[in-house]
Amino acid sequence: MAEQVATNITWHEGTVTREERTGCLKQTGGTVWFTGLSASGKSTIAVALEQVLIQRGHAAYRLDGDNIRMGLNKNLGFSAEDRAENIRRIGEVSKLFADSGMLCLSSFISPYTADRDAARAVHDEAGVPFIECYVEVDLAIAEERDPKGLYKKARAGEIKGFTGIDDPYEAPENAELVVNTGEQSLEACVGAVLAEMEARGMLG
Ligand code: ADP
Repeated sequence: MAEQVATNITWHEGTVTREERTGCLKQTGGTVWFTGLSASGKSTIAVALEQVLIQRGHAAYRLDGDNIRMGLNKNLGFSAEDRAENIRRIGEVSKLFADSGMLCLSSFISPYTADRDAARAVHDEAGVPFIECYVEVDLAIAEERDPKGLYKKARAGEIKGFTGIDDPYEAPENAELVVNTGEQSLEACVGAVLAEMEARGMLG
């Protein structure tokens, strides 16, 4: 966990409550955190879900692994320490988006349980809804899909520390939702997430 470095700083409380802010948007806001192996379908589900949400008149925004690594986290690699810092920052950013009333769709492999739990804790502390969605798939299927050719490179030893090959993926044990993209269609996966968001009151 990152240490507080700056001293002589004080939290500056605003005068607009979260309820007042989200009331303007006619939605509660919250984060859906997609975790799973590379090529499990996290981004595909998030993109389709964002489309449905916007069509229904909801404000949604996607945060996606590679995109964030090209900007905010461009100074981070794939060591265990950098992966942890990557997820720590994204957890904080997701919380900020969700606290603003946005439906934040965060797609990150986020292979370590402790890092995901930290992202959840940041939301819990702020009273912001958080759904962990485990996008499950057999490694063999993900490897066969290999849309970016990364598994092939990892098997050839050209990428070191690749999740599922020579770096662990710690599967969630208490996720609010599990979808399996080897068994369910994209539509079914999106529908399941929408239902969970509705049940958690994020949309109303
Ligand atoms: P990730 O973001 O987890 O790395 P991607 O979404 O980039 O994964 O890639 C997943 C691949 O799996 C895509 O090519 C997508 O078309 C395919 N796919 C097959 N079935 C499904 C499904 N049910 N849900 C999501 N993606 C699926």
